[in-house]
Amino acid sequence: MSSLTAKILDGKALAKKIHQELKQRIEILQPQKQRPPGLAVLMVGDNPASAAYVRNKERACTKVGIASFNRHFPADTTQQELERVIDELNQDSRVDGILVQLPLPKHLDPIPLLYRILPEKDADGLHPLNLGKLVRSETGLRSCTPAGVMRLLKEYNLELSGKRAVVVGRSILVGKPLALMLLEQNATVTIAHSRTKDLPKLTREADILIAAVGRTELITADMVKPGAIVIDVGINRVEAKDGGKSRLVGDVDFDNVAAVAEYITPVPGGVGPMTVALLLQNTVDSYERNA
Ligand code: NAD
Repeated sequence: MSSLTAKILDGKALAKKIHQELKQRIEILQPQKQRPPGLAVLMVGDNPASAAYVRNKERACTKVGIASFNRHFPADTTQQELERVIDELNQDSRVDGILVQLPLPKHLDPIPLLYRILPEKDADGLHPLNLGKLVRSETGLRSCTPAGVMRLLKEYNLELSGKRAVVVGRSILVGKPLALMLLEQNATVTIAHSRTKDLPKLTREADILIAAVGRTELITADMVKPGAIVIDVGINRVEAKDGGKSRLVGDVDFDNVAAVAEYITPVPGGVGPMTVALLLQNTVDSYERNA
């Protein structure tokens, strides 16, 4: 194991700071609004990872003073039933943010559901109107994970203008919106994906390397330019060999890459807590704007 020389981008600490700021904003706004902000997370089925994320979000809401209107549906819930509930929540003046916890069971199509959420209550920033605003660099609700990554880079005053950024992963949830946000900050951005040829050659050119793939230790030390900023979005569960407790790891071989990079995010404690913090921030932003 190599020795760590990179500085840690501490998402856990920054998320805590953001929670504190949000709590104060809510305390100021609540007397005039006569209600707390509200967030509704819709979950279908019993995916254990999703259940853990939903619990995390609910705990964070309680801490900052956001009311949870979470709904948990059985795995065989129909598309029509979910659409009906979204319509109901769209009309509910106590609810400022609505999000559908993905992935959904196979028989459900998430796209019409994401379209159905009112854009001004779209806490996850995945409605096409909000994605369109991002493309145009307009103010709107932005996807929480990429927005969390950008906030973390900003916190550490890391200059992005003119830098080479390589985003590995092109999902609508992380890779694509993150590439647009980096471009907005004047980075020169390349998106790599499963069909990219010679990934190591590309990643070695990156001043800022983002891994958002979902593959344990895809990014090894020889793929990283010395002095790079490495952001690990991946969350992978690794079973213990001796049958002990499983653990969470990212897409980056942390120990070895930390000996080459200048900055690195840990997993857990990096991007994960930032995603939750930005979800709460989106909810409070909507609360402030909505009647
Ligand atoms: P996804 O499966 O939708 O997308 C994965 C992307 O990786 C695809 O675009 C694919 O082209 C690319 N890819 C696959 N294999 C590749 C390879 N060998 N080389 C290069 N690219 C390859 O996943 P997602 O929703 O974008 O999530 C990615 C990871 O981030 C997952 O581990 C997920 O759990 C994690 N995630 C973390 C957070 C967080 O808060 N930290 C939030 C969302 C997602």
